[in-house]
Amino acid sequence: MEHTEVLIVGGGNAGISLAARLLRDGMEDVAVVAPSPVHRYKPLLNYVAAGEATMADLERPMADVVPDGCTWIRDAVDAVDPAAMTVRTRGGRSLHCSTLVLCPGLVEDWDETPGLRSAYAEGWAASSYVPGSAPLVWPSVTSLRSGSVVFTVPPEPASCGPTALKPLLMACDHWRRAGVLDDLQVRLVLPTATGTGIPEADRYLEEAFAGYGVEVLRESRVEQVDGDLHSVTVTSPGGRRVLEDVAFAHAVPHYRAPRWIADAGLAADASPGLVDVDPGTMRHRRHGSIWGLGDAADLATRPSGGALRKQVHVLSTNLSAAATGRPMQQYSGYTVMPITVHRRKLMLNEVDRDNRSQPSVPFLDPFVPRRWQWLFDRYGLPQVYWHRILRGRV
Ligand SMILES: Cc1cc2nc3c(=O)[nH]c(=O)nc-3n(C[C@H](O)[C@H](O)[C@H](O)COP(=O)(O)OP(=O)(O)OC[C@H]3O[C@@H](n4cnc5c(N)ncnc54)[C@H](O)[C@@H]3O)c2cc1C
Repeated sequence: MEHTEVLIVGGGNAGISLAARLLRDGMEDVAVVAPSPVHRYKPLLNYVAAGEATMADLERPMADVVPDGCTWIRDAVDAVDPAAMTVRTRGGRSLHCSTLVLCPGLVEDWDETPGLRSAYAEGWAASSYVPGSAPLVWPSVTSLRSGSVVFTVPPEPASCGPTALKPLLMACDHWRRAGVLDDLQVRLVLPTATGTGIPEADRYLEEAFAGYGVEVLRESRVEQVDGDLHSVTVTSPGGRRVLEDVAFAHAVPHYRAPRWIADAGLAADASPGLVDVDPGTMRHRRHGSIWGLGDAADLATRPSGGALRKQVHVLSTNLSAAATGRPMQQYSGYTVMPITVHRRKLMLNEVDRDNRSQPSVPFLDPFVPRRWQWLFDRYGLPQVYWHRILRGRV
């Protein structure tokens, strides 16, 4: 059986940046299990859906981002034995490790929304969240001149869910400039009462929704879609509503953690099945050698790439603290939800898990939309991601 000191499951933002950080910290035997040959910088998917970026801007070969000195096991984990500290892969390998870090992200739960998958296949529905469909969003948006259109924000767990408002607000901005906004009926299905649950941020969002004439269906979720009838059925505490004759649906699927996490007894609940870690130390609550971070971990905050900057630091510090008996660091739940409110103006929305403001730039109000923040989010951050974050330097 193959043995590794630190085995990281997942080669996304979490897995690659953690591997790089551990190697920088002097660890020698680090392996990442990741099946995909491609690594994506997902925040740019929203810019693809808004006609501001291409898929080539956000994709790199996995082989180019796996840090030097890290073993890449190109396979997918499909079972974990926490007592034996082994994982089994889809390719039939059995891997043993001393420390196991789980960060496989979330998976689309198509069964939660009957009809949605075939609506995607037909091209009537698409979204920034489903990479294969993201390039279809902007052509659909720009071809619309009249009729009804629906956008959704996915319910939790979701990867930085409120950023699904970006394609909506960028589309509205385009339609206004094209002079067709008044001929379109734009609806937004929100899983919560407001866009972010942060009053300082929601103030700007509510202004934007009202200014663009967006009808907001609150505390609602998409129950099913019908690709033949082009209808979207929405449920809310007030009842069920069928939105008919929808010309285009930016309907984001619902998400859950991979099932093998709950099957191994590593989740708090079977659904959504997130890794049951202490949200402060990020260590598994029942298995001291197992840790979790990123979208798949139950960290009591809204997951984001920005959150990972802090998580990777805390987790790497705590791994050596666990080995030496030093006190552990605590993750504050810091997260970020960048949203474009008007053309090329973006609010960062940096908060801790209690929604308290946590600006990265001291004294800067992180809820105010600004042009330089849009430029930084679109052009600056991707460079920081490829050259610093993925190399364990942040
Ligand atoms: C459309 C969109 C827009 C976003 N916008 C922003 C933003 O503006 N700002 C921000 O901060 N964050 C944003 N995010 C969130 C951010 O991208 C995620 O929080 C981050 O990518 C999570 O990283 P992760 O490594 O936990 O998961 P992922 O990036 O999903 O990576 C998971 C990895 O695990 C691998 N994997 C899956 N299953 C297995 C398995 N069984 N075995 C082994 N490996 C497996 C996958 O192939 C993948 O490599 C956005 C996300 C999306 C989808």
